[in-house]
Amino acid sequence: MENVKDKVKNEKYRNWVKSTLGIEQTGRALYEYVENKFSDYTHSKSTLAGVSFLDHTELFHIRNGGCFLSNLSNNVKQLKSPNGKGTSKSKWQWTGSCQTCKTSFEKILLLYENPCRKDICWENSHKSVHSITLEWAIAKMFMPPGNGSKNTGPKTTEPLALFQLIRACKLFKIDSVGQLEKLTEARNNLFHSSDNHVDEKDMKDYFQYMDELLKNVTEDKDVDQGTRDRVAKCNEKIEKLKHSEMTMALFDDALKLKRKAIFDDFEKSLSENDPDALKELLELAVKTVAEIQELKKYADEVKNIDSYKKEIDELRLEISKGDAYCSVLIIILTIIVASLFRIYFS
Ligand SMILES: [Zn+2]
Repeated sequence: MENVKDKVKNEKYRNWVKSTLGIEQTGRALYEYVENKFSDYTHSKSTLAGVSFLDHTELFHIRNGGCFLSNLSNNVKQLKSPNGKGTSKSKWQWTGSCQTCKTSFEKILLLYENPCRKDICWENSHKSVHSITLEWAIAKMFMPPGNGSKNTGPKTTEPLALFQLIRACKLFKIDSVGQLEKLTEARNNLFHSSDNHVDEKDMKDYFQYMDELLKNVTEDKDVDQGTRDRVAKCNEKIEKLKHSEMTMALFDDALKLKRKAIFDDFEKSLSENDPDALKELLELAVKTVAEIQELKKYADEVKNIDSYKKEIDELRLEISKGDAYCSVLIIILTIIVASLFRIYFS
């Protein structure tokens, strides 16, 4: 079996780390962009044609304590089509008593690119009246299931949720459907990988999709120049990541991202009652946690080697002063270090 030392030296494993961190940073680059878009929407600032903005009273009903979010899941019903599948927007209906909220519901529904069941998750924003902004409360409705109370803002949002949101919402007019699909696929391949190996060609493709997506964002004139500049800067950093030196900390970061993503997917599969997916994810989680521990142990031992080396250097100094006791110690320490080197660096 491949040990941790071989793993961190493996080029394909390094490609996996770079790709994983690249996806994460792409998500970060998109945070502000998404927030900005929804902020413009709630301030009726978007220049996009055909968008029905929410008026003052409607926004008042959505803000903290308003009636829109407090009972959202119960007030919105999906009418099943005869074959049991809801596919058109007419399948969604407002059943609550507040007529102002009904208008808000209809306006938000109009923002859906493809208002089928898969793209709408009213539950995400149900009762989310505290600790999140008005913009985020609306944005979450466009994210996949599982972005409920735990998602309190951009920092707790997975890149995957942003990819889906941008695809599902008409506020985003960037022509990036292909890239978003490919990056969603990449995210799933990376986090569900059993060996954490990525071929050079696949890594190059992933980075190309990230670059194309973020370049399209920087060309979206509907958001302010400052935001677009910051996205461009993030994109430069991501490009550098492709060629950067891999440290232990980066391996650790990538594995922890994988662990988090697996748990997120686990919760999603739990809500979907999918035992096969659950079993697979559980196995992956166990493997990933073990790998993080293995890596930590290895990193600690490398640290020990460094401290032994430092001690030897200090003893050398003592020896040069003629201390016999130190010369015995240095021999012992040299043997320890030599054996450790044989284990880890041979
Ligand atoms: Zn209301």
